[in-house]
This record gives sequence, structure tokens and C-alpha cells, in this order.
Amino acid sequence: MRVAVIGAGIVGLACAEELVCAGHDVRVFDPDPGGGATRAAAGMLAPAGEAWHGETDLLRLGVASARLWPGYAARLHADSGLDVDLRTTGTLLVGQDHDDLLHVRRTLDVLETEGIAFRELDRREARAEEPTISRVAGAALLPEDHHVNPRLVAAALLRLVAARLVRARAVVTPTGVATADGRSFACDAVVLATGAEARGLVPAVRPVKGETIRLRAADPPTRVLRARVHGEPVYVVPRAGGEVVVGASEEEHDTAPVASLGTVVRLLHAARTLVPGLETADVVEVTARNRPGTPDNGPLLGSDDSPGAFRLVLAVGHYRGGVLLAPLTAQVVRSLVEDGDVMAVARPFAPSRFDPRQSIVGPEHRKASCA
Ligand SMILES: Cc1cc2nc3c(=O)[nH]c(=O)nc-3n(C[C@H](O)[C@H](O)[C@H](O)COP(=O)(O)OP(=O)(O)OC[C@H]3O[C@@H](n4cnc5c(N)ncnc54)[C@H](O)[C@@H]3O)c2cc1C
Repeated sequence: MRVAVIGAGIVGLACAEELVCAGHDVRVFDPDPGGGATRAAAGMLAPAGEAWHGETDLLRLGVASARLWPGYAARLHADSGLDVDLRTTGTLLVGQDHDDLLHVRRTLDVLETEGIAFRELDRREARAEEPTISRVAGAALLPEDHHVNPRLVAAALLRLVAARLVRARAVVTPTGVATADGRSFACDAVVLATGAEARGLVPAVRPVKGETIRLRAADPPTRVLRARVHGEPVYVVPRAGGEVVVGASEEEHDTAPVASLGTVVRLLHAARTLVPGLETADVVEVTARNRPGTPDNGPLLGSDDSPGAFRLVLAVGHYRGGVLLAPLTAQVVRSLVEDGDVMAVARPFAPSRFDPRQSIVGPEHRKASCA
């Protein structure tokens, strides 16, 4: 099939690569591949750490995708020659003070109900597990929440679809897609993977700004730390070469994302309180991007059933979990393009769970720009 993928963030790239592997004739459109939320992401594969009451379907989706990651990372390495730095050392969920620890326990309640592994640690055990942290109230080890470097994942995927990339913005037309410079491409299917920018066509998606700060530290933590530090949520993600990613803020947002001083100071203060050794770290980069948020924090994965010249498939709204969910999303999108069965764990994320007329683009709207 001739398939156009609009958007080459981690989601669009994963979909394009899966469709290329399946033998389809794929074009992927993006003026700045990997430059959206993918660029800011910390790369935590953290269904357990993100678990919250009322989000059981999302937790199950995340767990299913997390299980794909070891094989996916190995395949990307073998096929592209790039190691995406998957680390399977687990995550420490930390409560700095007593109130913070109560918040941690709320997450553990959800994990207990779902039978997801964790080990509670008192303050001494927490320090023994991760000697770089300060005196904290308590913690829990989440052995199955891992992390990857999203920029390397995007680079690996980009290598694998390089011949299919069109570096241009694209809009949906009645017969497929067109670029601003007037090239048009007739398609059998169009996959919309434009991240937070999808909101022009998919009103259920909204931009939520997030900032991450990249440091270089002499004595970084050995595993991911997700913490509440006197009420402030913060995470610290160690990477190769002493790089440490500190994140992340969440702010409802309507314009181009720019990092703000107050947020950066708050995040760095919380990170330094948690890991005092970060005091002497170099600040390498501050990045702000918009996440594609949705009303229930879950992605929109579905296709447009109305008859038209082509099938329109949505792969948008991955909010805080686009890196985690990329391999599973790619499989779901391939099924949707090929008219196959969508796996049960992804069915709760059909766009029709929101107002069906509003949540997916109808044929009458296909002329509209997705920019
Ligand atoms: C600060 C921060 C930290 C995060 N940390 C994590 C994390 O630890 N783990 C995790 O799983 N997720 C994390 N996320 C979320 C994750 O980054 C997103 O869910 C994910 O990037 C969404 O991927 P995407 O491909 O849909 O969107 P994006 O990465 O935003 O990519 C969308 C792409 O579409 C392109 N585009 C838009 N419109 C058009 C058009 N008309 N034509 C052509 N191209 C177009 C853009 O140029 C862009 O490249 C984080 C996000 C932020 C902001």
C-alpha cells in the first residue's frame, strides 16, 4: 500500500519503520524530524512509575509496550548500527519527606492491585540501594521501569527510513497529502503523527509544555530516580558519559514552548536536594517542548471508518508516554493500515471514546491544513 506518515517524531518514525518492514511503499513527511517533544523526552519507559488511580487501561498499554522494548532496542541496534542505550536497571520511586512518601504509596496501591512488581525500601535501604541520594523518607524499587535515549532511538529510526523521508510540512488533501511547495502524493492510507500539532485536526489533543535540563555530572546516580521533593515532582535520569537529564514540568500552554526561569530553578533545586552531588554538575542544555496531551492522558489510536479515497489513521496524543508507547503504537498502526485486528490492550484508545465527530477528522475536513 502507498502510505504517507505525517510527522517524524518518535511515534511517526516508529510507525514508518514498521510499515517499511511490512513491505509498504512509505513516505514520511517532516521539516524537522525528531525535533518535537521527542527532543525533550527523558526516555523513561515507566508504566509503573506513572501509574495512577483511574488509569488502569493506560497502565496496561504501557506495560505491554515496555515488554516490547528489549527486543525492539536490540533490533534497532542490529538494523541501524546505532545502540539506543536501553538500560534495564529499574527505577527508584522516592518520597523526600513524609507527605511525599504518602504520594508514592498511592502509586504503589495501584501497582499492588494490578500485580506489578515493586519492593518498598525504608530510608536506610533506599540509601543502600542508591548511595547518591540524600536522607529521604522512603522509596520503592520498580524493577521493570527502564529507560532509553530517545534521541538515539529517533536517529536509529531515521537511518532506517532515510530514503522515505520528505523534509517538508504536509497537509491532508482529498486524495492523500500535499507539501507546501505544491507536491502532492496520492495514498491508500495516511497516518497522522504530528504530536501536539495535531490539535488543528484533532481537537481532543492539546499542548502541554514540559522542560528538561541536561547536566554533566562526575558522580551521577546509577538508576532513574523519580521523586517528590517537598511536593515538587522531579526525575533524574542518568545516561552514558555522565549525562543526567532532570525533568520535567507540566504546563497547559498555547504558544511555542520556551523554558521559563522559575521552572528551571524549581526543577534544579529539587534535583539537587534529592542528589546533593549534582551541585557541581555542568548545565549543558535546557529544552522545552509541547507534549500532545488528551483528556484522559491516553493516546488516540484508530482509523476513520467513513468511506473516502484513503484510510486515515490517527497515532497522536501520546502525552507523557510517547517513547514508552512507540513500539506498540507502530504495531497497532500497521494493523489499522492493513485492516487487521487491533490488539485488545489498545482497543480502549479508539478516538471514538471522545466525541466521534470531533476526535477524528471526517472526510469533509480532509482539505484542512494539519499545520
Ligand atoms: C519534557 C518532556 C519529557 C518527556 N519525557 C518522556 C519520557 O521520559 N518517556 C516517554 O515515554 N515520553 C516522554 N515524553 C513524551 C514524549 O516526548 C511524547 O509523548 C512523544 O515525543 C510524542 O511523540 P510524537 O512523535 O507523537 O510527537 P513529537 O515528538 O512532538 O513529533 C511530532 C512531529 O511532527 C512534526 N509535524 C507536526 N506537524 C507537521 C506537519 N503538518 N507536517 C509534517 N510534520 C509535522 C513535528 O515537526 C514533529 O517532528 C516527554 C515529553 C516532554 C516534553
